[in-house]
Amino acid sequence: MQLTVWTYEGPPHVGAMRIATAMRDVHYVLHAPQGDTYADLLFTMIERRQKRPPVTYTTFQARDLGSDTAQLFQDAARDAYERFKPKAMLVGASCTAELIQDDPGGLSDALELPIPVVTLELPSYQKKENWGAAETFYQIVRKLAGPKAPPPGTKPAPRDPARRARCNLLGPTALGFRHRDDLKEISGLLAQIGVDINVIAPFDASPDDITRLGDADFNIVLYPEIAMPAAGWLQRTFGQPMVKTVPIGMGATCDFIREVAALAGVDASALLDDPNSRAPWYAKSVDSTYLTGKRVFVFGDATHAIAAARIATRELGFTVVGLGTYSRELAREVREAAKLYGVEAMITEDYLEVEAAITELNVELLLGTQMERHIAKRLGVPCAVISAPVHVQDYPARYSPQMGFEGANVIFDTWVHPLMMGLEEHLLGMFREDFEFHAEAAPSHLGGAASERRAAPAAAPIADAFALAVETDDDVDVIEAEGPIDPVWSPEGEKELGKIPFFVRGKARRNTEAYAREFGVRVITVEALYDAKAHFSR
Ligand code: SF4
Repeated sequence: MQLTVWTYEGPPHVGAMRIATAMRDVHYVLHAPQGDTYADLLFTMIERRQKRPPVTYTTFQARDLGSDTAQLFQDAARDAYERFKPKAMLVGASCTAELIQDDPGGLSDALELPIPVVTLELPSYQKKENWGAAETFYQIVRKLAGPKAPPPGTKPAPRDPARRARCNLLGPTALGFRHRDDLKEISGLLAQIGVDINVIAPFDASPDDITRLGDADFNIVLYPEIAMPAAGWLQRTFGQPMVKTVPIGMGATCDFIREVAALAGVDASALLDDPNSRAPWYAKSVDSTYLTGKRVFVFGDATHAIAAARIATRELGFTVVGLGTYSRELAREVREAAKLYGVEAMITEDYLEVEAAITELNVELLLGTQMERHIAKRLGVPCAVISAPVHVQDYPARYSPQMGFEGANVIFDTWVHPLMMGLEEHLLGMFREDFEFHAEAAPSHLGGAASERRAAPAAAPIADAFALAVETDDDVDVIEAEGPIDPVWSPEGEKELGKIPFFVRGKARRNTEAYAREFGVRVITVEALYDAKAHFSR
């Protein structure tokens, strides 16, 4: 047994709570020891929901173990039904209650409640939160949509061409990373494509909605960790194909639109030609070259980690030096993605292992979970959160999706801002003696902790980025002089100097000339200017 301070995923019954809390008219009766009600805090404090999760805990205590805990469960289930009048009930046990083997399914059957009851068998000691959420959703879908299933082998009737295509959106839950905002973004995109939404589930779905899942032409799997088992069953049972591209990032959003349009039989080229994204605009600006080649480490759930690595390399020009996930169920997908970037995927639930890899790889930007944010703070590395587990600040008050074109804008800002504060670092070399801008000063947002670590590795990439930021068309050779010289500026060098912000330009000029005199450079070309910059940044 390994003791741990943090953990990427909770036990599977927390996953079940995420499904129950996302839905309407559902109640979850959880056989659990006193103290398990702490899980409510995830929803009320972290996610800031205004209601408690729809969960009744039996809250047995140590002294109850000698008496009839089965009766305790039945009383709780009956009371919960009477009090909340749900349209469907989930029953299950938490980790500790699993050990007393009270069989919540059999006990609730004996109550003969007049609503569907879904029994959850969640092996707490082998599985984790996302698996628990996926299994819960799958069991709900089977139980409630199953009665409407056509006989096995029935082919779905072709869609009437006069009717617009309709889809289900599957996977968003409570306590998901920006799920609520993603839904709004993707619903808007589907409306633009000309596709109707049949059911969104589990988020805000009632048991009645679940019974209608089979009416859609296809399913969109927004979060594979949660929705894949249910979508697979719907495909096998109702013949509904599924859209698997997760629309996180510009490229993936365009792929998603193409995939949906193909299944719906519509032309979405106008939407693809006019994406409302600021990322391509930024990529054309000189500032974007500052990002080129930055060493990035990505860790999170499989969906967000795979998407983040694609955006990092293909859309922002970073270099992915590490990619990993705690989602063992989707390890194969992450391993395949990692091959694209020439790295070996890290599949682990041990945050200390992740921390060791981050330290070893000397990364410049960390894209991770709340856990990696702690690691980044300790190491003084810029960081952005891309995936659950998350903390309260990852549920911002403003609209902040991850998916679709607006999601690409949000991601761009979230990742680039921690780095852009460091843009001023290129000036530090020029200002190295100044009391405010000395070479060891850390980017202001990182505080004092970053000073020692950032100074050394930062120099080379920044110099590279600057070299990339300009068109080096200067063909004046550097002339080495014998004795003391008075360097002159080439027109191109002078022009390049003009690009440096005016408030540091004088200092840059003096430093560069001092460098030229010291190293016998007679004509200060663009190259000499950057040699000087590199020299003072060392
Ligand atoms: S039952 Fe599981 S989740 Fe609840 S307190 Fe015990 S170990 Fe923790």
